[in-house]
Amino acid sequence: MLSRQAIVDQLTHLVGKDRVITDEPVLRENSVDRYRKVQAVFGIYELPLPAAVVKPADAAQVSAILKFADRHGINCVPKTGGSATEGGLETIVKNSIVLDGSDMNRIIEINPTAMLVTAQCGVNLEVLENQVRRHGLTIGHSPQSKPLAMMGGLVATRSIGQFSTLYGGIEDMVVGLEAVFPDGEITRIKNVPRRACGPDIRHVIIGNEGALCFITEITLKLYRYYPENNSFQAYAMPNMSSGFDLLREVITAGYRPSMARLYDAQDGAQHGFDQFAPDRCVLMFMGEGPAPIVRATADGIEEIAARYPDQDPIDGRIIENWFNHLNWGPEKVMEERELIRKTLNTGFTTEVSGNWDCIYPIYRNVLDRIQRDFPHGEDLTLLGGHSSHSYQTGTNLYFVYDYNIKKCPPEQELATYHIPLNAMIVEETLKAGGSMVHHHGIGKYRTPWTRQEHGSAYYILDRLKQVFDPNGIMNKGTIFPVDK
Ligand SMILES: Cc1cc2nc3c(=O)[nH]c(=O)nc-3n(C[C@H](O)[C@H](O)[C@H](O)COP(=O)(O)OP(=O)(O)OC[C@H]3O[C@@H](n4cnc5c(N)ncnc54)[C@H](O)[C@@H]3O)c2cc1C
Repeated sequence: MLSRQAIVDQLTHLVGKDRVITDEPVLRENSVDRYRKVQAVFGIYELPLPAAVVKPADAAQVSAILKFADRHGINCVPKTGGSATEGGLETIVKNSIVLDGSDMNRIIEINPTAMLVTAQCGVNLEVLENQVRRHGLTIGHSPQSKPLAMMGGLVATRSIGQFSTLYGGIEDMVVGLEAVFPDGEITRIKNVPRRACGPDIRHVIIGNEGALCFITEITLKLYRYYPENNSFQAYAMPNMSSGFDLLREVITAGYRPSMARLYDAQDGAQHGFDQFAPDRCVLMFMGEGPAPIVRATADGIEEIAARYPDQDPIDGRIIENWFNHLNWGPEKVMEERELIRKTLNTGFTTEVSGNWDCIYPIYRNVLDRIQRDFPHGEDLTLLGGHSSHSYQTGTNLYFVYDYNIKKCPPEQELATYHIPLNAMIVEETLKAGGSMVHHHGIGKYRTPWTRQEHGSAYYILDRLKQVFDPNGIMNKGTIFPVDK
């Protein structure tokens, strides 16, 4: 193994001094992500600090860095926007390199004829979306972290946005992309609307969470942007079971609202829904696209909702106003830090998915399990959930849990609260036949269940790791469990 100083010297030789950062506060921040946001607020950093954060200028530099790391067995943690929530950015190995693509931030081409946009991995999604909107176009990708996240991370995590019911997740948007593998190979999958030339190799790269390769460039589809036609509808529902039924009927009937969300009363209350729907669940839809399609979608939803005698319509303008302020930029991150410091209260989410026939059992079983088995239930200040991404065959569930950490030092927050709550959600979901991760990625905290999630298909995933990263230098502990 090379010494820390030798790693820094070699990196400086490869990319120049300005691109290699070794300041201790930067290294500390780059040893964690938002899974350890509580500890970060109190300045507690317990993981090994990386040897350096390196900011390559282009794919050739990424290739040189990876080749060097591969030759010497140095762990590399890819990064772009830094909004990861599942430990994917944690440097669990001594003297890791954080490979930060945020300087690769060029929009390469907006092509309104081919309806394609190509950008480097470090382009911020909000910046990119604002640029394509100047052409009357949209990418259709709008995760809540749009002001923070960048293209590389968005593709690497299989992210999804609030308009997914119409546009799909990032996997439905990526047309082609460029990535660099640990042996230094730079690969480009070309942009074509479809092909039948063997398996779809885009999917080796999309969702790899930096555990197989580094994504340098992405080409996405574009759509026409019609914000003037947007419609909002919402209904107060008596319970989650009937909410899932109505949601399922709308989706399986063939309607494609861009946004479809169902909140339980507890989760809804933290958004102020108890003001207009106290103790009720709230189901909401947004229609988007050409005017006749939006009208037909709204009419169809109205017709289906009318068959549910227990629902009460809610003024769509309230929902529109709330929805327009949902995204998180850097200022909200700072506000949250202050709030944690002041109140010693924090909150996390765990997102899963299931087919229509098991989604309600997952919802019920998780809440029952936590209420029954979680030993610090008195510290929970919120336990609820919502569905925000629906498909022909099922939907997702975001479990939301807040808790007071007044009784334990911040170092013990993970072991006392977050890890056991996350585990109960994952276990109950897998037991009922769902998937343990819907869109945040496995990171480092759901790896104990990667094998169980994939069953006999884990063979395929495991072989990909062996073939593309035989020396195990890519983001150790992410997706693939590290054998102790
Ligand atoms: C407030 C908030 C709201 C969020 N809302 C959503 C949401 O609505 N939908 C959603 O899907 N997610 C959401 N997330 C999670 C997060 O924003 C997404 O996972 C996002 O895709 C991460 O992008 P990033 O650029 O910040 O990636 P990073 O945080 O930098 O990295 C994320 C993961 O991808 C890997 N990675 C990063 N760049 C590369 C690269 N170039 N090549 C290979 N691997 C790479 C990293 O190693 C890490 O494992 C939210 C997060 C926050 C904090």
